[in-house]
Amino acid sequence: MADHPALNLLIAGEALSGGGRDSHEVIDPATGETIGSVPHATAADLDRALEAAERGFKTWRNTSADQRTAILLKAAALIRDRAASIGEALTREQGKPIKEAIGETIYCAMLLEFYAQEIKRIYGRTLVRPVGQRVEVQYHPVGPVAGFAAWNFPSLNVMRKIGGALAAGCSTIVKPSEETPSAGIALVQACIDAGVPGDAVQCVFGVPDEVSRHLLASPIIRKVTFTGSTAVGKHLAKLAAEDLKIATMELGGHAPVMIFADADIDAALDTMTANAYRNAGQVCVSPTRFLIEEPVFERFRDGFVERAKAIKVGSGFDKDTQMGPMASARGLERMEQMIGDAKERGAKLLAGGERIGNQGFFHQPTVLAEVPTDATIMNEEPFGPIALLNPMAGEDAMIEEANRLPYGLAAYAWTKDSARKRRLAAEVEAGMLALDTGSVSAADAPFGGVKWSGYGSEDGREGVMACMVPKTVHEG
Ligand code: NAD
Repeated sequence: MADHPALNLLIAGEALSGGGRDSHEVIDPATGETIGSVPHATAADLDRALEAAERGFKTWRNTSADQRTAILLKAAALIRDRAASIGEALTREQGKPIKEAIGETIYCAMLLEFYAQEIKRIYGRTLVRPVGQRVEVQYHPVGPVAGFAAWNFPSLNVMRKIGGALAAGCSTIVKPSEETPSAGIALVQACIDAGVPGDAVQCVFGVPDEVSRHLLASPIIRKVTFTGSTAVGKHLAKLAAEDLKIATMELGGHAPVMIFADADIDAALDTMTANAYRNAGQVCVSPTRFLIEEPVFERFRDGFVERAKAIKVGSGFDKDTQMGPMASARGLERMEQMIGDAKERGAKLLAGGERIGNQGFFHQPTVLAEVPTDATIMNEEPFGPIALLNPMAGEDAMIEEANRLPYGLAAYAWTKDSARKRRLAAEVEAGMLALDTGSVSAADAPFGGVKWSGYGSEDGREGVMACMVPKTVHEG
């Protein structure tokens, strides 16, 4: 295995570390051992990054669309070339199976390729007026963007922060998670190597609350974009509001999965079991509350439990591993508390329920059934390898339960009834609805939530437009 990559800040194109800066230890979640240390930006570093972002914005927004497209396509090619080594370090820091880590990084290249081409499709419009007059609607990049990414998708979350901003012509300062820093550094470095000015794409680390307060207090930053918990999202939205900065908030979810009696049950089982335990359940769109129509409840439950028990848990580097460790000890603690609370309230534990061993942060794939609505886990995002299976009386009750929580990120349904699919599309409160599929993400489609799951979109045309503002030019 290669040595762990150097962990550094990237400010104004310069790799910075050491120099008496504080640092954060990076832990391998499969062993609990320290594998590296990431430097914290000082206040002076952050001020330097802000000044650079202001300069970088002027240069990058005035770079021609063709040139920006070519540079971002080159960055995507570099990310593809480097995906194996980026993926290896990502697995060591985050734990997910290496195939998923490399796949996630290649998906970043695909997303950047889409964004690079989308630059050519940023249109305005001309409004009809009498001869001699003209009204033109133009779109302009909003200004320097500060992005804060979570640890569950160390490369994809960062690309979602920087890709749309760079395509729009904005400069960007991104703070990947200190727990999983290497992929974010590598993606920013690939952009610089491809020709994005080092002033226009920068990477910092630190105490998260201190870095975000510092950057958001500056009038230079005109937009904030965050992936993480609803609690932190609300806090950052308030900081953004103080200076009327625009914001994209990609926050937590608690996805309902409606299994109707007419569904292809085997297909639903194969797809949704794999999905529930992907990335040890640490996915904002993880299928969580399974709402199963009564006639097929027992069949679905038994099939689900059988598949959950068969999942191979182990190091992300073992080729048979389907599920790695959780990313941190606090994930394990949350699982323990939520499972204990649900059992006390009468939920039935049908699989798993315990951490595995005492080295690293491994947890068994877990299934709870007949979980009362007042259990914490029915109301708060578990963000772990657990599925909740509940029998339901029928469509109306299922939609009501799907919409009960303040979250609205992803929702899933399995049914062969096309009229019902139309009703669900109209009535389910979610940013993304998956019908007879486990997939809710595509480079050319918007990704984002409603209600407490946040606002604004990443990916798709919307991901670029989220970093642009209209300007109407009236000509007499
Ligand atoms: P968290 O919100 O505290 O942290 C998520 C990320 O945000 C981390 O990478 C952290 O460094 C960063 N962060 C935290 N406070 C910040 C601040 N003040 N300013 C800027 N960045 C900040 O969440 P967590 O403790 O890592 O996980 C707790 C819960 O958050 C999970 O159980 C899950 O519900 C949710 N979560 C959601 C996502 C998602 O994809 N939407 C990702 C991670 C966590």
